Amino acid sequence: MSITKIHARQIFDSRGRFRAAVPSGASTGIHEAVELRDGTKSEYVGKGVLKAVTNVNEKIAPALIESGIKVTAQKDIDDFLIKLDGTPNKGLLGANAILGVSIAAAVAGAAEKDVPLYQHLAELAGVKPPYVLPVPAFNVINGGSHAGNKLAFQEFMLLPTGATSFTEALKIGTETYHTLKKVINAKYGIDATNVGDEGGFAPNVSGAVESLDLLVEAIKKAGYEGKIQIALDVASSEFYKEGKYDLNFKDPNSDPSKYLSGKELADFYVSLIKKYPIVSVEDPFDQDDWEAWTHFTKESGIQIVGDDLTVTNPLRIKTAIEKKACNGLLLKVNQIGTVSESIQAAQLSQSDGWGVMVSHRSGETENTFIADLSVALGVGQIKTGAPARSERVAKYNQLLRIEEEIGANVEYAGGRGLSAGLTPPALISK
Ligand code: PGA
Ligand code: ZN
Repeated sequence: MSITKIHARQIFDSRGRFRAAVPSGASTGIHEAVELRDGTKSEYVGKGVLKAVTNVNEKIAPALIESGIKVTAQKDIDDFLIKLDGTPNKGLLGANAILGVSIAAAVAGAAEKDVPLYQHLAELAGVKPPYVLPVPAFNVINGGSHAGNKLAFQEFMLLPTGATSFTEALKIGTETYHTLKKVINAKYGIDATNVGDEGGFAPNVSGAVESLDLLVEAIKKAGYEGKIQIALDVASSEFYKEGKYDLNFKDPNSDPSKYLSGKELADFYVSLIKKYPIVSVEDPFDQDDWEAWTHFTKESGIQIVGDDLTVTNPLRIKTAIEKKACNGLLLKVNQIGTVSESIQAAQLSQSDGWGVMVSHRSGETENTFIADLSVALGVGQIKTGAPARSERVAKYNQLLRIEEEIGANVEYAGGRGLSAGLTPPALISK
């Protein structure tokens, strides 16, 4: 069946900002596709998306309906949307307008075939069962641009790679999250257990070492030593200044003589990887500091994930493959703007042996599309915040449903989901 009706409306995200059913970042990469915001200062503090909504209702809808493309032909729909926009960064119609339609088409395509969304997406991607449920990466300590504390690194994540199912991984993650809350409360007081944008705690720790010590203590107290590994998202483009890294960037009086060079920052990461069960580091360097990336990916021996570096864009991923700049992709559908290009980005990365982690944005809605996408692509990793705040938990709950629905033939990725070909990462019990 072809498309007969498309309607967009503005809704609100987890920060109370405004969007059309797609997420939105805070620590956005400069190479991302363009998110169209109204910029009308007097309304919705300039963050409205009514122009993008109008673009869907008045430009995309009539053209796509007129085209007669079948709703199950996702690639044709996405190619049509890309052509209709005509710019390399979807800046004319807006990546938020285009992605809303692309996702809606995928959901409608699944309904037309009368199959679950993950199955439809798997068929589009050419991925065959058995389905693999991803390891969840629970972001339990928030810093960087996502929290009002001093911490420079943006995300400290728990990965229950030692679980035997997604359901057990969620149990492990949730219990450890609540144990961490008690640990933080005892050390820093109740105020420190307020949560940041992605549901993690935002205690006023001095830095990464103190945060990692908190995680290790919580893992031990919760009784999950050996079952949980740790991932970081440094989001370092946020504190890259004049070729150096400012770990004190939230202090307006930060001292430039204390900024770290790329080499000094790499040495710091290596010391952390030696001491803690860290198996993945995202955005360790600025989005255009290619040389530092290449050097560290080789040196670290663990999964190094590109987010701001690669922005889910096949062209940037190709460059990263050529430069051996990273060995993992953070897959954010709104960085590129269509479902088909997201699938292409994942498969291009996998063709070079990279790991792929499907990801939410710090500004999210209750939409659970990425949960189905992670299962469909069988990538084995998803990060969608702490097991708290409904816009985060909605994705984890959808994965519980999918695991139950698939039943006996389901697999859980465990540590297999991390970048292929790497030395098996150390467990916390070492
Ligand atoms: P963002 O953060 O959605 O604010 O960009 C998420 C991330 O950096 O992974
Ligand atoms: Zn990131």
